[in-house]
Amino acid sequence: MKEFKAFYKVVEGKEGERCHYSTRLDTYGCGCFHNCKYCYAKSLLAFRGLWNPEEPSVADIKKIEKKIKTLKKGSVVRLGGMTDCFQPCEEQHNVTYNTIKLLNERGVHYLIVTKSDLIATDKYMKILDKNLAHIQITVTSTDDKIAAQYENATPPTKRIKAIEKLGAEGFDVAIRISPFIPEFINFETLNKIKCKKAIVEFLRVNAFIKRTFNLDYSLYTHKEGGYYHLPLETKKKLLKKITGFEQISVCEDCSEAYNYWKSHVNYNPSDCCNLSFNSSKSKYIGNLKLLKNTKYGFLSSQKYCPGTSLNIKNWLKTLDPDVCVVSGFQSKLEKELLDFLLQEKRKIIFVLSTDVYEKCPQKFKEAVKNGSMLIISPFDTQLRIKTRNAAKTRNKFIIEMVDKLFIGDLTSNGMLDTMLKDKTYCLIGEKT
Ligand code: SF4
Repeated sequence: MKEFKAFYKVVEGKEGERCHYSTRLDTYGCGCFHNCKYCYAKSLLAFRGLWNPEEPSVADIKKIEKKIKTLKKGSVVRLGGMTDCFQPCEEQHNVTYNTIKLLNERGVHYLIVTKSDLIATDKYMKILDKNLAHIQITVTSTDDKIAAQYENATPPTKRIKAIEKLGAEGFDVAIRISPFIPEFINFETLNKIKCKKAIVEFLRVNAFIKRTFNLDYSLYTHKEGGYYHLPLETKKKLLKKITGFEQISVCEDCSEAYNYWKSHVNYNPSDCCNLSFNSSKSKYIGNLKLLKNTKYGFLSSQKYCPGTSLNIKNWLKTLDPDVCVVSGFQSKLEKELLDFLLQEKRKIIFVLSTDVYEKCPQKFKEAVKNGSMLIISPFDTQLRIKTRNAAKTRNKFIIEMVDKLFIGDLTSNGMLDTMLKDKTYCLIGEKT
């Protein structure tokens, strides 16, 4: 038995930036019995002779234990990001079983992504902590015979039963349709699955994928990040066929589509994995439906030019009443705008640079009560103090979620000006 030494990794780059759960802990590596023909890990390792599906390398539980001791209580680690941590050799080695026990002791959340129904057996259901376990079971086809042509994993019908069983027992579980290949899905069957959450990831096409599936690739015309993708409009149409789930999220690589899903589709705009945290504290205050309205962002540098407030009042008069104004309302001008918006009972999305308030502040109670205000935060973890970095993250979040961006006053080469490089916006005040 070979030891899998590289069992812990923090994913960086674009994926790391977008994905909230970029720390991976793989209990098995350099091979996965499921041996999916489209497997990304396999495509990277097989040609170097490092892929052994029959006998994957096994991580040392003592070393895993040491690593887990360094993880913060309340943080989230993804189990099985590179290979399936519930592949058949788990029954022999139990490394995932023991890892889960250690994570429970440490109070660390674990996001499990698997194509196995082993997770829904009594042995694992006994140790999975409902407050810490977040489970995504991948289904690529609703038909066992189709799936068997390209995956050596548990048949989809059994995976679906596992999803329903875990859901019925109150676990945070989602069906992960990844890659989403509409040709392999019977939508009637899919939409009957009893599960609250669905995560969808569209197929990305490269030469390796073209050799794997016999599909009509002429539809994959959008090129980004070294892959061909379906254009956003086609993706939108296909997504409409998935109707049986209360909460939909799209895991996305392409920038335009990523921003679209985030502001128009994803159940939790600040988390495309849509994990549920059993906390008494809400992740938002107010009317979540406002996210579906047209959204105009407003940001302004700290430096204030006299006269810009009048421009803002005039700008406000030109806006359709259904438009939502989105801002962090932190700089002087942003705060002034907030007062105007509240006075005129306009629609407001307030994005915080801390986590969401415990209680709705008195000042906003009326707006929240009449449905014209939503208070959200891009941060999941507890963040009480406003910092420059948090403000930067918050502003980035605003820039990505809005349909149009308006800027009050702008200080040349300041933080905001730097963030706006390559962005399209409309300047209401002055650039100094
Ligand atoms: S289950 Fe995941 S890791 Fe295993 S072969 Fe399939 S795609 Fe690769």
